[in-house]
Amino acid sequence: MSPEYSEVLVRYGEIGIKSKQTRKRMEDLLIKHIKSAMREAGVKFSKVRKEYGRIFIVTDVTQEASDIASNIFGVVSVSPVVVIESDLDTILETGVEMARGSFTKNKSFAVGSRRVGTHDYSSQDVREKLGAAILMGLPELELSVDLTSPDQSLYVEVRNQSAYLFVETIDGVGGMPTGSQGKVVCTLSSGLDSPIAAFKVMKRGCIPVFVNFDNTPYANDDCKAIVTEQAQLLANYIHNFEVKLYIVPHGEDLSEAETHGPPKMTCLFCKRNMLRMAREIAIMEDADAIVTGEIIGEQASQTTMNLRAINTAVCDFPILRPCAGDDKSDIEALAHKIGTYKFAEEGLSCCTLAPKYPVTRGKPSDVQKAEEDMNLDVLKNQVGQASIITLRTG
Ligand code: ATP
Ligand code: MG
Repeated sequence: MSPEYSEVLVRYGEIGIKSKQTRKRMEDLLIKHIKSAMREAGVKFSKVRKEYGRIFIVTDVTQEASDIASNIFGVVSVSPVVVIESDLDTILETGVEMARGSFTKNKSFAVGSRRVGTHDYSSQDVREKLGAAILMGLPELELSVDLTSPDQSLYVEVRNQSAYLFVETIDGVGGMPTGSQGKVVCTLSSGLDSPIAAFKVMKRGCIPVFVNFDNTPYANDDCKAIVTEQAQLLANYIHNFEVKLYIVPHGEDLSEAETHGPPKMTCLFCKRNMLRMAREIAIMEDADAIVTGEIIGEQASQTTMNLRAINTAVCDFPILRPCAGDDKSDIEALAHKIGTYKFAEEGLSCCTLAPKYPVTRGKPSDVQKAEEDMNLDVLKNQVGQASIITLRTG
């Protein structure tokens, strides 16, 4: 009978090098999120325990549990494991049976091993003896040993009384557990970049408050629908914290910009007003920063000079631009991975005001001067008219 997988080994890298107190706080958060995600998905487990810098999920459905755990921020990788006693005979016997069940014929293999605790054998013994036992015990598979780039591998992690055997390592999303950092206001435009910017800060442990500025009458309702879907998809990565989406009217202030400002600066006025409204929401929500999806040089409004001209609208909150140094291909690759690429395929244009010849070397003083003719009191009113959608209850 082939050995049964009964646990999922969860690795969490970076958390492990934190100070003792911080590490404990983050490990506890991670465990809490794993449990919530499993319950939400209806995947049964009997226990989630922490041991020797690893987390173990005890469950009969190790494949489903692995999929869920790998999508939780803070998880570097996961492996479904067979758990046995750590005496060498049991390791050899079980290892051969696992190889029989999972190795492909005519391919090369290697055995990897790590060991913690006191045993009457070394890691090297495990590698050598199990490698030899597999070759001897499974001649029908015609396997060969390749220690540098094997086609398939069997790993043995020995920890005191127990040994954990696995053949598969699934990459996790990485980062830090949600809630290890504070709330941040993530602006979402319905485009490709801003969901990636949000994902990147969420991955580092931030709790997002999503905000979309509704450009009506300079856009149509499809943009709001797309943003709501994007925000919901992102919110599904968050466990144990409430996630909201604010949809804020942004037509009146754009009309002020259209009426009173030079058209070449419209995008700068627009971005500055968005930051101002995001700031109001950051204060209401007790958030620490504002996040945008700008990429240096990607759009006319995203030159370094224009970014400075945009930034002077809000000086008491950091404006985080996690995509600033990315290439478009980096953004697309991540969007494919997390599932937000499909929205870009709709090719929506959510602003009809963008000028044909926008300024690329905006000066803060010029922009501020032009704004003197605009009624910026409308910004607070617009924030007051926001509709708020709860995407996740805490
Ligand atoms: P994206 O792909 O995110 O739409 P973009 O390169 O098209 O970005 P811009 O339109 O210049 O960029 O916007 C820059 C950033 O400003 C966006 O990434 C987003 O963070 C924010 N933003 C733009 N429009 C909106 C909007 N209508 N609502 C909320 N945020 C917005
Ligand atoms: Mg962009």
